[in-house]
Amino acid sequence: MMSLPGAWFDAAQASLFESLVEPLLFALGGSGYLEQAYSGTELFLLGVLQIVLLYAMLRPLEALAPVERWADRRAVRVDVIYTLIHRLGLFSLAVFFALDPLIDELAGVLRLEGFRTFNLDDLWPGVTSIPAVAFVLYLIVLDFAGYWVHRWQHRFDWWWGLHSLHHSQRQMTLWSDNRNHLLDDVLRDVLFALLALCIGMQPGQFVLLIVMTRSIESLHHANLRLGFGRVGELLLVSPHFHRRHHAIGEGHEGAHQGCNFAVLFPIWDLMFGTASLKAGYPATGIRDQLSGRDYGDGFWRQQGLGLVRLVQGFSMVRRMR
Ligand SMILES: [Zn+2]
Ligand SMILES: [Zn+2]
Repeated sequence: MMSLPGAWFDAAQASLFESLVEPLLFALGGSGYLEQAYSGTELFLLGVLQIVLLYAMLRPLEALAPVERWADRRAVRVDVIYTLIHRLGLFSLAVFFALDPLIDELAGVLRLEGFRTFNLDDLWPGVTSIPAVAFVLYLIVLDFAGYWVHRWQHRFDWWWGLHSLHHSQRQMTLWSDNRNHLLDDVLRDVLFALLALCIGMQPGQFVLLIVMTRSIESLHHANLRLGFGRVGELLLVSPHFHRRHHAIGEGHEGAHQGCNFAVLFPIWDLMFGTASLKAGYPATGIRDQLSGRDYGDGFWRQQGLGLVRLVQGFSMVRRMR
């Protein structure tokens, strides 16, 4: 696995591993997992670095130009827990590295059977093999997939049962991106990891892509009065653009069960008729919260209620959201 930030990061990783992780592993009788534990230490440190940097950059901006001010920020605390779980374990990356050997094995079997495995880098030799070009291509493919997975999270009742937890935050902040049902995350991350591996993405490229995408997603959810201007709003998802996706009665209703589904590039919403470029910063949440539907305040209750909605989603006819 590659190290992104540099030599000082490698030193910190080695030091944490030698002083804490390795002795702990030996004490628990897990000396056969040293390599995985070393990669895990890197993911953990990458998560710490990401959270510290995002907090240092986004929190002052939120204080400077907030959309809303709340006397009581208790509802935000649970989102901090979600962020710590996800970014410190770097969920998506853990899934990718768990699936990597399986896909390798599968590719080997397919090759033996005479199938050629696909690699996006080989599309246009000399051009797509340039690392930066290949990275942009992977980014576009995965972002396109991200748009459609998000459409399906709203389209299918059972999946909305899980994803609605993400929409149930009335106090959006830099922490809200990871407020997701764990099952929803596993499902989404497995799909992305499979796609990334099937198009030949290398671990280093995937790490960079996930860290970059997740950081921009944290910005989208910040309590921040920020749009990217007439042209910029069409090029990159802004906090203003994504807030419309969380708007009560708009971000999860209508002909397409919502609007502004894009993860990074609004072009997909423009192409498929789901963009809403209205001005303003609407209140966020889900319509039925206004009539008292409970999505839970604490982590476990939110997870439990999500499972109940999942089961209901399988058994109920489409309802008004
Ligand atoms: Zn959504
Ligand atoms: Zn969101």
